[in-house]
Amino acid sequence: MTLPPAYRLKGDMKNICGTLAPQAGGGVNISVPCPICGENASEWKYGFKRCSACGIVYFSEKGELSPAPSYERLNEKQIYFSSNVNIFSGWLERLEKIIGSGKNLLDIGCAYGDFIKLALSRGWTAEGIEISPEMAGHCKSSGLKVYDKDILELNLAAGSYDVITMWAVLSLVREPQPELSEAFRILKPGGLVLVRDYNFLFHKLAVSLQNTGFWKLFNARPGILHNWNFTPKSIKFLLKKTGFENIKIINSRPTTGDPYATGGRLGSGFVSVFKNLYYFVSQMVYFVSFGRLLISPSLIAIAKKPNTCRGSIY
Ligand SMILES: [Zn+2]
Repeated sequence: MTLPPAYRLKGDMKNICGTLAPQAGGGVNISVPCPICGENASEWKYGFKRCSACGIVYFSEKGELSPAPSYERLNEKQIYFSSNVNIFSGWLERLEKIIGSGKNLLDIGCAYGDFIKLALSRGWTAEGIEISPEMAGHCKSSGLKVYDKDILELNLAAGSYDVITMWAVLSLVREPQPELSEAFRILKPGGLVLVRDYNFLFHKLAVSLQNTGFWKLFNARPGILHNWNFTPKSIKFLLKKTGFENIKIINSRPTTGDPYATGGRLGSGFVSVFKNLYYFVSQMVYFVSFGRLLISPSLIAIAKKPNTCRGSIY
C-alpha cells in the first residue's frame, strides 16, 4: 500500500505515518509490553504494533520527534486554521464556561499560532510550543510567545497554566507518556488538558476500505495512520495513568471542508456533507450506547489535574 498523496509530508515521513508497506516474509510475531497500558502488544500490519488490551496501534520504530507536518503552501492555512476555526472557537467558549475567562493557556504544537491568536482575541493569556523552526519563527515574527523546543527540554515552571491544548499533536510525538506527564506537571492544580486526535476505531475501518470499491473508484483515502493511533480506551488509560481525573472522551465535531484532500475525485463538497452526516450518526451511536461507543474520525479528550476541591466539573 502506498501513502495517499495528501500525506506525503515533507521532512521525516517515516516517523509520522510509517512506510505503510506490508512486511515481507512474516517472521516471528514477538509480543512486547504495550507502552501505554503494559499489556501485550504484537505486530499488526504495515510495521505497526497493536495492544489487544487498550487498543493502541503504534509505529514500533521510534525516531526523532516529528515536527508539525508541512503541507503544500496553499493547503496550510486551511489545514491549520480555517478548517478548524469553528472547533477552536467552540472549545474556547466551552473552556471559558468550565474554568472562567482570561485564563492562562499553552498550546503544544501550535503550528502557525492561529489557535493562540484566537485565544488572545478572547482575552486569554496564550503561548505555544512549536518545534518546527519555520513555524515557530513565523509565530515569533507575529509577536506571539512561542517556544521552539520540545516540551521535555524546556523545563517550564510547575503549575504555570490553567489550560493546555494539543490539537492533533499527541499522535505525532515520540512517546506520549512523558509529554503528557510534563503537561500535567506544568498545569496548575485544577487545570485542564484538552486533546483532539484521530480515532483509530474509525481510521482502521477507513484504511481497510480505501483500496476497495467505491473509495478506490474515486481515489478517496479517508484513513489516517500516525505514530500513535489512539482508541477512546487507550487515550483514557493514558490520561488516567498520568494522574488526570474527570476524564471525558467524546466525538469531535468534524473540521470544515476537506483540508487533506481525502475525498479524491469526490470533492470537498461531498466530503463536507459526508463528514457532517457521519458525525450525526456517531452522536446517535454515542447516545444509544450510553457514551460507550465512539466512532467519529476524531476524538476530544478533556481531563483535569486534581486539586484540593474535588468533584465533577462538567
Ligand atoms: Zn495497551
